[in-house]
Amino acid sequence: MFMMADKEKFFVPVIFADRFFMSANALADITLQGGYAWADAKDHFDLAEKLTGSPFVRVIVSEYIKINSLILEQAPGLKGVIAYGAGYDHIDVDFFTSREIFVCNCRGENAQAVAELTFALLLSLMRRIHLADHFIRENAWKRTDSAALPEWIMGRELWGKTLGIIGLGQIGSRVARIARGFDMRILSYDPFAQIKEGLGVESAALEDILSNADIISLHVPLTAETEKMVNARALSLLKPKAVLVNTSRGKIIDEPALIKALEQGRIGGAALDVFSKEPIPSGHPFFRMKNVVLSPHMGALTQEAGERLSDAVVRQVRDIMNGRRPECLIKISEAISSQ
Ligand code: NAD
Repeated sequence: MFMMADKEKFFVPVIFADRFFMSANALADITLQGGYAWADAKDHFDLAEKLTGSPFVRVIVSEYIKINSLILEQAPGLKGVIAYGAGYDHIDVDFFTSREIFVCNCRGENAQAVAELTFALLLSLMRRIHLADHFIRENAWKRTDSAALPEWIMGRELWGKTLGIIGLGQIGSRVARIARGFDMRILSYDPFAQIKEGLGVESAALEDILSNADIISLHVPLTAETEKMVNARALSLLKPKAVLVNTSRGKIIDEPALIKALEQGRIGGAALDVFSKEPIPSGHPFFRMKNVVLSPHMGALTQEAGERLSDAVVRQVRDIMNGRRPECLIKISEAISSQ
């Protein structure tokens, strides 16, 4: 049951399903377009319940909350759904598109932030920064001579290594650009992307990347084809010191198979921003592993990306409210394509 005050806030056209950064300017702009409300939903059932009897809702923006037919039943005036970010695996694109409701994302706006985090995690793993920081804070640094430092402090360089990029879209391409600064050989597997001239990337088959790369970085969306793309078989092809970086979606890796490979020392390590279950349950095996660097799905969380995402949301809210095709429409329905 909701208090009257709770229900009243949904007499606005724009609903933010979960909590994410929106700049003050962006919120002021959406206020001028009719107003917004934060639903702060726990999940899509909670969102549907909170939306009950909300005929004025036109646009829902969601970062993680599932948006499906249940939501449309409660918000029958819906004209568009915006994925806050690049990933849209939480939105039933086919369902909404078949009902001529726009579904769009904010692709590209957070790509640089994710590409930079990819290298932050990778460098931390290769140079043991996550362990070294802990070492100092524990007051374990007692002498100045390097011989007195623990053996694990001896890291590895990126220079000259082979990087395998799986998924050469907005983020993958930026990862490639940064990798060139480390003089890395860059291989990429992406059957749908055209490699831009001058990017310095060689196209390769997935198996060749898995068996030749020193570092493998995942940048594909979560789809039926990519789910568990990195499974036990794929992991068995990796070189013994190879490391895996995942800043895309947790379910792209078969996590139990990765845990096994790490526990058995069959690969060099992993740097992970995303997990099959988020937040990671306490006592997870990753917590015990020194050759694993973890971050809490924060790839897109920079101030600059937040500003760009806010602006992209505003532009697309405006388009949807005015019946125009938003700039980052994911799929075109037959009716929309004839507009
Ligand atoms: P994008 O759409 O620009 O690029 C994805 C690329 O993957 C495309 O080039 C596509 O052709 C390719 N691809 C699709 N299916 C493939 C397959 N089966 N095999 C190989 N390549 C395939 O998207 P992007 O902006 O680069 O983002 C990639 C993903 O990163 C998002 O879908 C999202 O899940 C994730 N992401 C994570 C964070 C984070 O906070 N960690 C932030 C933003 C995005």
